[in-house]
Amino acid sequence: MNEKRLPFTREQIERIMREYPTPFHIYDEKGIRDNARRLKKAFSWAPGFREFFAVKACPNPYIMKIMKEEGFGTDCSSMAELALSERVGITGEDVFFSSNDTPAAEYVRARELGAVINLDDISHVSFLEKHAGIPDVISFRYNPGPLRGGNAIIGKPEEAKYGLTRDQLFEAYRTVMAKGVKRFGLHTMVASNELNPDYFVDTADMLFDLMVELHRALGIQFEFVNIGGGFGVPYRPEDTAVDMEYVSNKIRLLYDTKIQGAGLHPVTIMMESGRMMTGPYGYLVTRVLHKKETYRNYVGMDACMADLMRPALYGAYHHITVLGKEGRPLDRTYDVTGSLCENNDKFAIGRALPAIEIGDVLVIHDTGAHGHAMGFNYNGKLRSAELLLRTDGTAELIRRAETLDDYFKTLDFSKL
Ligand SMILES: *Cc1c(COP(=O)(O)O)cnc(C)c1O
Repeated sequence: MNEKRLPFTREQIERIMREYPTPFHIYDEKGIRDNARRLKKAFSWAPGFREFFAVKACPNPYIMKIMKEEGFGTDCSSMAELALSERVGITGEDVFFSSNDTPAAEYVRARELGAVINLDDISHVSFLEKHAGIPDVISFRYNPGPLRGGNAIIGKPEEAKYGLTRDQLFEAYRTVMAKGVKRFGLHTMVASNELNPDYFVDTADMLFDLMVELHRALGIQFEFVNIGGGFGVPYRPEDTAVDMEYVSNKIRLLYDTKIQGAGLHPVTIMMESGRMMTGPYGYLVTRVLHKKETYRNYVGMDACMADLMRPALYGAYHHITVLGKEGRPLDRTYDVTGSLCENNDKFAIGRALPAIEIGDVLVIHDTGAHGHAMGFNYNGKLRSAELLLRTDGTAELIRRAETLDDYFKTLDFSKL
């Protein structure tokens, strides 16, 4: 269970709305920092433990700066994410470049920044060498395929486009050793929005075993292991967040037996979480423009799926609070819609909510990851502003809303 509370009072958000019109996403700095500190504390036993914030979840430099201040690096997989990291002052090995189907120019830029490069395929060794040169540190992304050893809970990696097979990994490390690489890491990412803590323990277990085998076969002294991201967000009130203390303690036991046991200590444990780091700490604030009663009851918002695509894209649940009506009975049923000419532009379908009036403010929870980030301009919809609710209770505009001029910027009307 998790209580779907708001980090602001009604008076506070009304003051903010007088300055910044809806719709907007607002991020709770205190929530982000407290969560970051809980994560660091949980893994404080692990020598050099490091989180690399997966930028794609919330690619705003002010959010990335908070991550930097908390001691984290960034996980990037595109040119823009590398550029954003650089603008925030996150460079060198504070950047983990974990891309796939990578253009040459991105490898070149990642090398210029001194990022740690994580290769997604064995063929990328020669591609990297040709375009950007071989760095002294290399990591590979492992795809375990149909799982040996009966670890039933790790989905279906064999259907995922990512990573190298087990046999390819041995060959890949051998190849880069021959090319003079001296420092090595191992990476995987086999989960997404997973709430079962044992999934992450099993992932670490699998990687530890593999490192020991690679060490025995090739003599590699691994410097780090990156267990990826994929920690879920308890989007539904009945969901429970992953207990990081539990995950960490279990991983510690495995580390002590397997890594220490094989004489591989110290190996830095890394992760590259995005969703869990910001998801629960973002809120889409939107006002009711219309009510409509036909075969169903609708409330039409001033936000649309261009501001939050997850419900339309995956049928994802996002909790909704009707501001100021928190205590009232949920005795009405609404489809909560946006204005796109797409029938799946709905934030909720058949949702039990209190009676809603035009002008009411709805707060859509857990929009801090893949919310604004997934925004798009279909139907000429402009992307919303992003605000940061500072720890002192004030709100700062960290990205203004788009204007029509922004939308038309790529057109040249003079040649009409
Ligand atoms: C998306 C992604 C992440 C972050 O995943 P979350 O589910 O947001 O934690 C980390 N690493 C890679 C390579 C990714 O593609």
